[in-house]
Amino acid sequence: MAAPFDLLVIGAGSGGLAAAKRAARHGATVAIVEGDRVGGTCVIRGCVPKKLLVYGAEYRELLEEAGSFGWSVPDHRCDPSTLLANVRREVDRLNALHISLLEKAGVTLIQGWGRFEDAHTVVAGDQRLQARHILIAVGGRPQRLPIPGGDLGWVSDDLFLQEQLPASVLIVGAGYIACEFAGILAGLGVAVTQVYRGQRLLRGFDAELVDVVQEGLQAQGVQLRPGLTPEAISAGSAGFSLSAGGEDLRADALLQATGRSPRLEGLALEAAGVHHDGRRIPVDAGQTTNVPHIHAVGDVTDRINLTPVAVDEGRALADALFAGGTRTVNHDLVASAVFTQPELATVGLSEEAAVARHGADGIQVFRARFRSLRQALPARGPRCLLKLVVDRSNDRVLGVHMVGSHAAEIIQMAAIAVGMGATKADFDRTMALHPSIAEEFVTMV
Ligand code: NDP
Repeated sequence: MAAPFDLLVIGAGSGGLAAAKRAARHGATVAIVEGDRVGGTCVIRGCVPKKLLVYGAEYRELLEEAGSFGWSVPDHRCDPSTLLANVRREVDRLNALHISLLEKAGVTLIQGWGRFEDAHTVVAGDQRLQARHILIAVGGRPQRLPIPGGDLGWVSDDLFLQEQLPASVLIVGAGYIACEFAGILAGLGVAVTQVYRGQRLLRGFDAELVDVVQEGLQAQGVQLRPGLTPEAISAGSAGFSLSAGGEDLRADALLQATGRSPRLEGLALEAAGVHHDGRRIPVDAGQTTNVPHIHAVGDVTDRINLTPVAVDEGRALADALFAGGTRTVNHDLVASAVFTQPELATVGLSEEAAVARHGADGIQVFRARFRSLRQALPARGPRCLLKLVVDRSNDRVLGVHMVGSHAAEIIQMAAIAVGMGATKADFDRTMALHPSIAEEFVTMV
């Protein structure tokens, strides 16, 4: 057997790639094992192709409003097959780019699904690989409903493989993926019915903001069907049928967007003595499992399942292992966005979470609800909602939330201020940039 690698990474997604390249830069000998396409969920079947589809879907509204700005656009039908093909081509380009970046970094890429043989040995395809440190970065996969017919219909991965879109779709779920795809598919001309067991979309997000997202989806024509628990799915020549809450709902296609779970199966973790709880691999603040030389980052640890978090965890680990780094990843105040139309973005405590932590009298909420200048001439479109949640005892801003155009871009910058401990007075002291949407954050009274 060849000399052991300094680091063997299982999984070439965002976290694994980041760790592998950073470790190689520190001079470590590194191999990365991948059974699917290099790039992982984010690049191949998640964030990147999803956002491209969002851009495509947004043209519908832009074209509909173009007339009020003097543009004459007589025919604006969408051909989703062109968009889907172009997105696939871009994913292929990024996949090739990531492979070439690994080559440039001197990382050995091994195609195959990794499986532990013992605590220092991983088998992938016909190769037995040994390493001083092993990183599990295998991510997660969409989970299907545990109901009769639960194996039928698409999960989010499948959408990116389609060459054409159906006329109608049932989307099951109320989380990130369900809401984002409801907006995408409606924007691309598909009749969307979104079915969910709760009363509200996006459980855990600030309720007032969710209301605006809900209005936006409805304005796009999405039929929202709350309070329906899925019981069974069937498929036939006439399409899909979903039994939920005693109703029988039908459409040409069905998307299950009912959460994701870490990809533990096939790793043979027991052969390496790595503990897991059946759902995830627990790690300490340094991304290390119960076995001191075996580490895990990203969705397989099921903490905050977002790409930048996995990337940061991977880099911090590589720095610690091969460059004496001591930085631990800060899992507090992680900003996130839901790319609906309008988009929702948030950092810090929602009003509900702040009340739970500080009491209703312990916080102060400031909000601005308005129609942006961009919407003035069409005189339509969803309103923006901007919200600051402030700790009364020390004036610290606990949460910054927004639904509206460019919310993700704006909240990314607000996250710096919140991370630095900005107070409401700091926001107030900041001169407004006019006319903009974000200026409302510094003029709230
Ligand atoms: P979420 O956890 O956000 O939502 C899952 C949805 O499925 C919820 O509405 C949940 O209902 C419902 N659900 C789960 N089990 C059942 C069941 N047995 N019957 C009926 N409904 C069920 O998962 P997603 O799949 O939307 O996304 C997975 C993760 O991917 C996210 O948590 C996020 O970390 C990441 N992601 C991030 C994105 C971004 O940053 N923009 C985009 C896409 C994904 P209930 O609420 O009632 O439990």
